[in-house]
Amino acid sequence: MLTNIPGYPRIGSQRELKKACENYWAGKISLERLELTSRQLRKENWNGLQETGIDLIPSNDFSWYDQVLDMCMTLGVIPSRFKALQQTFANPGCPELYFAMARGYQKNNFDITALEMTKWFDTNYHYLVPEFESVQQYTLHQPKCVEEFKEALSHGITTKPVLIGPVTFILCGKIKGDDLTHTQLLEKLLPVYIELLRSLQQAGATWIQLDEPFLVTDLDPATRDLYHAAYTAISQALPALSILLTTYFGALEDNTTLALQLPVQAVHIDLVRAPEQLDAVLAALPADKWLSLGVVDGRNIWKNDYAASVALIEKAIQQIGEERVLLGTSCSLLHVPYNLEDETALDPEVKQWMAFAKQKVAEVIALKHIIAGDTSLLIDNETVMNSRKISSRIHQPEVKARLESVTTADTQRHSIFPHRQKLQQSVLQLPLFPTTTIGSFPQTTEIRQLRADLKKGIITPETYNADIRNAITETIYRQESLGLDVLVHGEFERNDMVEYFGEQLDGFVFTQNGWVQSYGTRCVKPPVIFGDVQRPEPMTVAWSRFAQSLTSKPVKGMLTGPITILQWSFVRNDQPRMQTAMQIALAIRDEVKDLEDAGITIIQVDEPALREGLPLRKAQRAAYLSEAVKAFRLAVSTVDDSTQIHTHMCYAEFNDIIVHIAAMDADVITIETSRSQMELLEAFAGFKYPNETGPGVYDIHSPRVPAIAEMEALLHKAAALLPLRNIWVNPDCGLKTRKWPETEMALRNMVTAAKNVRLAM
Ligand code: GLN
Ligand code: ZN
Repeated sequence: MLTNIPGYPRIGSQRELKKACENYWAGKISLERLELTSRQLRKENWNGLQETGIDLIPSNDFSWYDQVLDMCMTLGVIPSRFKALQQTFANPGCPELYFAMARGYQKNNFDITALEMTKWFDTNYHYLVPEFESVQQYTLHQPKCVEEFKEALSHGITTKPVLIGPVTFILCGKIKGDDLTHTQLLEKLLPVYIELLRSLQQAGATWIQLDEPFLVTDLDPATRDLYHAAYTAISQALPALSILLTTYFGALEDNTTLALQLPVQAVHIDLVRAPEQLDAVLAALPADKWLSLGVVDGRNIWKNDYAASVALIEKAIQQIGEERVLLGTSCSLLHVPYNLEDETALDPEVKQWMAFAKQKVAEVIALKHIIAGDTSLLIDNETVMNSRKISSRIHQPEVKARLESVTTADTQRHSIFPHRQKLQQSVLQLPLFPTTTIGSFPQTTEIRQLRADLKKGIITPETYNADIRNAITETIYRQESLGLDVLVHGEFERNDMVEYFGEQLDGFVFTQNGWVQSYGTRCVKPPVIFGDVQRPEPMTVAWSRFAQSLTSKPVKGMLTGPITILQWSFVRNDQPRMQTAMQIALAIRDEVKDLEDAGITIIQVDEPALREGLPLRKAQRAAYLSEAVKAFRLAVSTVDDSTQIHTHMCYAEFNDIIVHIAAMDADVITIETSRSQMELLEAFAGFKYPNETGPGVYDIHSPRVPAIAEMEALLHKAAALLPLRNIWVNPDCGLKTRKWPETEMALRNMVTAAKNVRLAM
């Protein structure tokens, strides 16, 4: 039984690659230094995997920025706007073009935008979107996978190169212009793919992993044909090569026969997300094919339950024989941190339940030993698994009981929206086109320093509180003088939307070093939700009460919603995710109630990650959405009719989920629209969305100050689509990444635009 790792983290256990890349961009280190660091990181990974005893060790899973961008460079998928730059940097070893495609290029009289970035399936990893144009001619460019394969060989290690498979590569990109079909595109790309595979084979590769995660999504007949065409051509050209067709993040379901009939040597399936698919896959697996079982979770940080994995492995062995079974992690370990041993401050009870990349590789080997008869490993693991089942750190009977007793009434406001709207209008006395912001104000260096100093114990909590209060006071006065109608306290006490809440809730722990790559050199350190969630103390009430005491205008309370907290954390796997979401919802509900009791009349519960949680399969989406909506409603429905509930989402796609957005029944929703020129408001208008809406009138992602007329025009557009009294005026998103001068100018213009539109109506 061979062991197989589909990919390993690459950013460096101490984020060495992040630092090296950023230093290289800043001109602080040479290309040689960046390459040296890269070589060291690759060598460490390869050596580590070899020492642990892994047979199929990945190469080309390393990347300076993104593996999809690497594929674009290798095949020559370079948008024409980079042509001139490409000629300037003709030297093939020069990474300028590569980084320009990743980050945009504004130097030497060039002003070229980067490739678009989007989420890799349902992960929080973002890849760069390939742009296919009919004018592009594809040829093999700097095949880094061949270089890296040879590099590993020079260390005495024969690796398994990892490439994005041709169909997934096409499907994750965009065709610019209508004059190119997927079939034509595949025809153009395939010869280059084949040439690439041939060079790998000539360099000595025997196994090659082709990632085709699109096989776990809904595919139309034309896409299925692409799979047949691509893999038939590859196997005809290179009959001696062993292709490991790799799927992950879900079940093959209706694509089972398609995937298993492709002419490849082995197929990898994700048995963590979809253990139930094993029977169907075993039944349909042709006699000449091998099966790679992804039993160790590559997406989460929990220790493997060996007994459960062994049951799956043994079933496979019984049916197809040990020699046709490979054993590995469910997907690349890119999505988990490096090494649990680096965590010295974690609560030991919680730590014993966890495993990071290094530990997961060891688990794969342990499972192999167990299958070979070493049952002592199984017994130790059972002890740990059992301790999780009964730990009083995890299980809070009162939390479970409270969730059990939730009724439909708990998820419903007392009255329907039209009634609430009247009441709120009379309490709040807001003008038409009321102005507000999304919550955060600029996080200056001083503000960040304050939080850091408090964490390090350099300043006392008293000093910290006084300084944050000063920042709030100043921000309230600035908003008053700008003439905004609904104010915010500014979120200076928060470093992001989840950590601040997680730190105050039971059931969360935080790592020191648990970094995972989000995109390029950006890494995040998600909190770990290990147990039942509850709120021992109010979390935001003191700040909100203080802010409200400074002004007669309403100050919005500001909270993060249950789905967003869930999406941006590592979530416990011993109960359904939505059960955890509902527990978080109850904790937020307590906070909402306390804010209301403290005299806060408007409360915003942000759900920017609601869409991110959408399942890959269409058939599962409605169920997810209705549960997500229920969690939101549970969090907010405790308030009186006169208390106004806001929510905020920062994306521009609502068409397919508008029914569910309406079902959230927030009194006001603020959304991103400025970059799409109010286009997405059409989803709201078409649906006759009944509640109030704040379509963002300017893009906060750049320091550009929008003109009054520009925002006025957008508001007139909104006024043509929605009832006037339902329209709010606000920026696209929070202002934390902006500086104060541009923020004040932009908001001043925004308030003037709102006033002008009021007069014009
Ligand atoms: N209230 C948050 C802020 O203003 C919302 C951020 C977000 O939508 N991502 O920063
Ligand atoms: Zn936002």
